[in-house]
Amino acid sequence: MAIMKFAPTMLKQLFQKPVTTKYPMEPIQYPEGSRGHVVVEIQACVSCSLCAMSCPCGAIQVDRKEKTWTINRFDCVQCGYCVTVCPPKALSIVPGYQTPGEEKYSVTEQHIMTEEEKQKALEAEAKKQAAIKAAMEKKKAAEAAAKETK
Ligand code: SF4
Ligand code: SF4
Repeated sequence: MAIMKFAPTMLKQLFQKPVTTKYPMEPIQYPEGSRGHVVVEIQACVSCSLCAMSCPCGAIQVDRKEKTWTINRFDCVQCGYCVTVCPPKALSIVPGYQTPGEEKYSVTEQHIMTEEEKQKALEAEAKKQAAIKAAMEKKKAAEAAAKETK
């Protein structure tokens, strides 16, 4: 009698497509919302290091001087926290998992400065130097004035 209970399920399964796929012959379809791996739009990255500071695994390193962004994918747990803290929204999580490997390795991306960015950086540096010079001169003048009043 038990077979009678299973019969409808068995018949249904006979006419359904298999739930398994022929991977790797067929490309894998990642389910919606799956967390694959973190990618950076490096030209949008401003090297603020917020992602590196907030990563619970220490998987990201940012070199402000060299303008590089490095991730050790084997340390990343795809929590997505770095994506939420990035001010210019340069980070995102896309489908596709890290290929297994025998050794941990890092992936580095480098922001190449455009001519406009170089010009802006030069102007910012010149402004900074001018502000330092003005502050030093102000300090010297205040010291000289204090000496005269003595
Ligand atoms: S997804 Fe999480 S673990 Fe991976 S790099 Fe970002 S903050 Fe770190
Ligand atoms: S938080 Fe965004 S902008 Fe800042 S260093 Fe990371 S990727 Fe670059």
